[in-house]
Amino acid sequence: MTNDPSTKIFDLLQFGEYGDVNPSVCDSATFTFMQAKTMMDTFHGEAEGCFLYSRHWNPSNKYLADALAAMEGTESAWVTASGMAAITCSILQICSSGDHIVCSLTTYGGTFAFLFNYVKKFNIDVTFVDITNLDLVRQAIRPETKMIYTESMTNPLLQISDIPALAAIANEHDIKLVVDNTFTPMIVAPHKHGAHVVVYSMTKFINGKNDCVAGAICASHEFIASLCDVNAGTAMLLGPALDPLRSSSILKNLHTLHLRMKQHSKNALFLAEKFKETGVKINYPGLPGNPGHETLKAIMEAEFGFGGLIAIDMETAERAARLMEMMEKAGVGYLAVSLGYFKTLFSNSGKSTSSEVPEEIQHEMGLSEGLVRFSVGLDNDIDNTWQKIRECLGKM
Ligand SMILES: *Cc1c(COP(=O)(O)O)cnc(C)c1O
Repeated sequence: MTNDPSTKIFDLLQFGEYGDVNPSVCDSATFTFMQAKTMMDTFHGEAEGCFLYSRHWNPSNKYLADALAAMEGTESAWVTASGMAAITCSILQICSSGDHIVCSLTTYGGTFAFLFNYVKKFNIDVTFVDITNLDLVRQAIRPETKMIYTESMTNPLLQISDIPALAAIANEHDIKLVVDNTFTPMIVAPHKHGAHVVVYSMTKFINGKNDCVAGAICASHEFIASLCDVNAGTAMLLGPALDPLRSSSILKNLHTLHLRMKQHSKNALFLAEKFKETGVKINYPGLPGNPGHETLKAIMEAEFGFGGLIAIDMETAERAARLMEMMEKAGVGYLAVSLGYFKTLFSNSGKSTSSEVPEEIQHEMGLSEGLVRFSVGLDNDIDNTWQKIRECLGKM
């Protein structure tokens, strides 16, 4: 089990300078030096263990980054003030004007908006493809392609990316595979399967408390150093550093992630099976026959299950709204965007987190206007939750 991502975090011997088991919070923006030369070396990235300024590195951020790198099995990591900061900095570090990106058509709405609208101003071109169709991915690659971008489990259609196959295509062309693993921490370790850069919104499962937004980039020493380079690093120069107080609280939550993922997955599978029995159109990669089931089984760390997200199809946005309002009143959870919280959250993706995606593209990707995405909570008695949902469905 030494390859288990939860074991790798627990193997990490990490404590503060006074033996404090939760490493001290380093509440400093700047750091002093006893020798001027050491400061100069730090500027050039050549003084190991020295800190310069907290937009660059902060000890509290480094504790969290080291734990994340251990979890992912990457050499290094850097933490950001949001998931979008992790995504946009990684993309802009790899791509320059004139470059091209191949991206999954189904991606988080903010990522889609960035790649569909925003990167035009940098003259970066993007081709969106069905990421589960490897022939389409291969065909989309051009001489100027620098990156394949996808999500391990895509939002909101829960498609599963075949990461080893995508990594092989990327390596063939000497380009980077960047994977957003926000939906499946612990469950999938994209780097182990060949992804070059792994990005996270820690806002979701990793922190799991819905008390902040945060992100992370896990990659090689070389890539993280390039991001933090004082002269040309995207992270250093755009400046989305995470607050060290937040880093410290996220680090504490990270240590229960493995338990939470198991419970989210267990509850999601339970509800998915119940929805299926009831005849509701259900999408959950944990169900045999789901298009992503076998792909996920081949890459997942089985003990953490198939993840906490399920999607049902209520056919119309009006019916979706009615069900969600009833479920909130019945105490199933909250009608809210986001995911990975200890309570169940549900939202209609087409009208919320994917509303950045133009309607015709929503149709093209097969996103029903009645899709209700659930981030299933940590409920101890999930059957009780199901009884409430069943009553709501009965009133539809
Ligand atoms: C929420 C989310 C993001 C964006 O993260 P923020 O922390 O909100 O900036 C990116 N990717 C996925 C898959 C997400 O769910």
